[in-house]
Amino acid sequence: MTEKLSRYRSKRDFSRTSEPAGNGPGRAGRRRFVIQKHDASSLHYDFRLEFGGVLVSWAVPKGLSTDPAQKRLAIQTEDHPRGYIDFEGVIPAGEYGAGTVMVWDSGTYRNLRARRGPDSRSMERSLDEGLIEVWLEGRKLRGGYALVRTRGGDRPQWLVIKMDDEAADARRNPVNTEPLSVKSGRDLRAIAEQEPGSD
Ligand code: MN
Repeated sequence: MTEKLSRYRSKRDFSRTSEPAGNGPGRAGRRRFVIQKHDASSLHYDFRLEFGGVLVSWAVPKGLSTDPAQKRLAIQTEDHPRGYIDFEGVIPAGEYGAGTVMVWDSGTYRNLRARRGPDSRSMERSLDEGLIEVWLEGRKLRGGYALVRTRGGDRPQWLVIKMDDEAADARRNPVNTEPLSVKSGRDLRAIAEQEPGSD
């Protein structure tokens, strides 16, 4: 278990929340991602890439864009357990991450920096270097995305940028036009009202 993951666990009381406590079964050879819309103290989108046995995570206040001209701030947050990847529901008030969580997009990805030769980079090495390039195959988002670290420290800041490829589209704006859950079709309000444990 990574240090970050143990910190995550220590912050949560699993007797009070319905979230999974451990890592779910991994599917060999396939890497998954999720973007969870999170109505916490401020609304944001949690972008999580599965690698190294955890979900490496960023909070993206404006969400990911399909427009290569839009650089979106992404603040690296705690690694999460893999089992969190399909969590949708309500985290009770007073818990870490309190608020309503929606599975806004999900799918698989591949590492665009994994290639033949000495320039090849694993996801772990890319994270260390502060440059990640992935190809997403989601329900809403597709194509290449680059994550570039701009500031280190305790809560590193990154930019997430759509790469200029055939899936780029400056006009789509899915954060605004496709607001519903890909898991349940619900909006945030319906999740908040229907999940047990909500106030
Ligand atoms: Mn969050």
